Amino acid sequence: MTRPRTARIALNRPLRRLFDYLVPEPMTLTPGQRVKVPFGHQTLTGLVAEIGVEPPSGINLKPVQSALEDWPALPESTCKLLSWASDYYQHPLGECLFTALPPALRRGRSAEAKADQHWQTKDSGELPPANAHRQLALLTAIKNAPGITSSELTKAGFSRPQIRALKNKGLITECQDRGRTDADSNQNSTPGPQLSEAQRTAAESLPADTGRFSATLLYGITGSGKTELYLHYLKTHLHRQDQALVLVPEINLTPQTLARFQRYFGQRIAIWHSALTDSQRLDTWLKIRNGEPVILIGTRSAVLLPFTRLRTVIVDEEHDSSYKQGEGFRYSGRDIAVYRAHLNHCPVILGSATPSLESWHNAQQGKYRLIRLEQRAGNARPPSMELLDIRSRPLESGLSRPALSAIAEALDKGEQALVFINRRGFAPVMMCFDCGHMEECPRCDTRLTYHRRDRAMRCHHCDFQMAASHACPACKSDNFKPVGQGTERTEETLAGLFPDTPVIRVDRDSTQRKGSIQGILSQVNSGAPCILVGTQMLAKGHDFPNVTLATVVNADGGLFSVDFRAPEQMVQTLLQVSGRAGRGDKPGKVLIQTCHSDHPLLQALCRGDYPTLANQLLAERRAGELPPFRAMAIFRVDANTMQESLQLLDSIRSLIQGPGVEIWGPIPAVIARKADRHRAQLVVCSDSRKHLNRLLTQTCQQLDIRKLPASVKWAVDVDPQET
Ligand code: ADP
Ligand code: ZN
Ligand code: ZN
Repeated sequence: MTRPRTARIALNRPLRRLFDYLVPEPMTLTPGQRVKVPFGHQTLTGLVAEIGVEPPSGINLKPVQSALEDWPALPESTCKLLSWASDYYQHPLGECLFTALPPALRRGRSAEAKADQHWQTKDSGELPPANAHRQLALLTAIKNAPGITSSELTKAGFSRPQIRALKNKGLITECQDRGRTDADSNQNSTPGPQLSEAQRTAAESLPADTGRFSATLLYGITGSGKTELYLHYLKTHLHRQDQALVLVPEINLTPQTLARFQRYFGQRIAIWHSALTDSQRLDTWLKIRNGEPVILIGTRSAVLLPFTRLRTVIVDEEHDSSYKQGEGFRYSGRDIAVYRAHLNHCPVILGSATPSLESWHNAQQGKYRLIRLEQRAGNARPPSMELLDIRSRPLESGLSRPALSAIAEALDKGEQALVFINRRGFAPVMMCFDCGHMEECPRCDTRLTYHRRDRAMRCHHCDFQMAASHACPACKSDNFKPVGQGTERTEETLAGLFPDTPVIRVDRDSTQRKGSIQGILSQVNSGAPCILVGTQMLAKGHDFPNVTLATVVNADGGLFSVDFRAPEQMVQTLLQVSGRAGRGDKPGKVLIQTCHSDHPLLQALCRGDYPTLANQLLAERRAGELPPFRAMAIFRVDANTMQESLQLLDSIRSLIQGPGVEIWGPIPAVIARKADRHRAQLVVCSDSRKHLNRLLTQTCQQLDIRKLPASVKWAVDVDPQET
């Protein structure tokens, strides 16, 4: 008798195990293939993890119902990558594997590509009326790119009914695919500027061999022309049939960067981010899986896609904290990118003006090759930086006299000014000046932020909001006032002081509507004088040639935080903000308001270069025995009471403690109560990553078999960004 054929299947469930099934004759399966399997009373989509495993004796296995395709949705290299990540981040393999599928395929939809229609113009038909702007724009778009597809047009903002309307008018007709994604797609691209001397030297040091693993840290100050260098690199070294991955922190914030790639590489560019529709994601996923020679520009999760001919990986703004997923599968896109390049035997380039201390350390250790680009491209010079001590200075909505006159001066010269403030809303607190009452979130240990525009009090940590009241809810006094600054308030003050100048606010509230950031950016890029007021969003990679002044309303947030990463993040944010000033031909200036102008970190920031700061910060990390000098993981627990959270962490502590680890806690999280959940954490450090990984694996397995109350949730966060 032949042994029964079996397969071990991964399901999209938070379970740290796989499930065995019989493979019925004549079905054949390979790892990575999608199947339908019975599970309880349901039928689920699964992924084949292993085949031919010895079935446990005495158990009646159910058969696999069907295979969804006769090819593996996830090729071997992608499966390998994700099983490594599953082990490294202690996250169930099933959920890890499923993140590499687009949502439609996770749900079990067919992967057969739906045929896309290609269009060209006809020299006939009745032209749309002159006021039909969208139809005329659509017609021009098709005329300029014959063979363009319906999905490309919808991506560009046109609708399918608009396309049908032109077809019905006889203005356009379907045509053959002009095969733009194949070999010749590189040729219709436009060349960029000549590389500067410094860029050329850097370009020559980049790895020329795309068939071998190498890791390079490209430290290039803001405006040094890193993006230009990536473009040049891909153009020079990427072969026609190859795929490349360019990871960026947030695509929607930097449409300019995307446009530059598209100008260079035309239709070879594909994009990946969470705002795409399911069918757009399926299209792009299929291109990647089918080995089409795309250059994919994508956010974090793009690193998990099933590339089959990946030959270059670039991580732009590699220090950005959005590369780390904060919940569920808590992976770092940047770190997986390095491992992926290693698996695929190809180069990875990490670029930043403010490299993460992890990468900087790796470069110092010789693990990464370091390339320095310390001159701004074109005619731009690095901005001058100045600390403005605001102790006992009169402030107008947080802005000092010297800052306001610098803004006025910039505007007078026809230039643009940027004001950075790290809080959205009108004011972070509403306080009663009679009884001292402050409005708090009923569900979190935080204060409510006042949003004047919407007359609302909002919690920035949960979704709670309520109408703002004029009187103190505690004592009914009308001496109830906003305290502190938010973007709305600064916007309002500046609009009052500079009535003839547009004040443009850039934060999560003002950019919520689709396309609003594009509108804002094009207004700024028109170059006319304006004041930009915004949060972190303004610090990210924008190229505003006419911004000559950047003012930081308050730099002190990161100086005295309990989070050991806070100083690093503060330095990075301030340098990134300052990097927005003086990128064109005119010199830039940066004013940093602070109450601690004698603080060594701020002084060093103004004096100097990031490398010196990074070395200083690394020395502190070494002295404190903190990452990157040790491996760290955090167990995070939340429950209905703090006692339950601390109790579970106590028992985790006793599971994990032993030689070779240091444990801190358990202690309540910084915001101990969030959305009515009581949160606590336990930090585990070790000199040996391997040892820590082994301990975490054992601990997670033991926790899995424990009966915990359903209301107690735990997770482990490896290489945490927030502590
Ligand atoms: P980074 O990514 O380092 O911030 P960018 O690549 O965006 O820098 O370049 C900054 C600005 O300098 C852009 O406006 C870019 O077009 C311009 N630039 C880059 N390289 C050159 C060059 N070799 N000659 C002229 N301008 C350049
Ligand atoms: Zn009161
Ligand atoms: Zn809340």
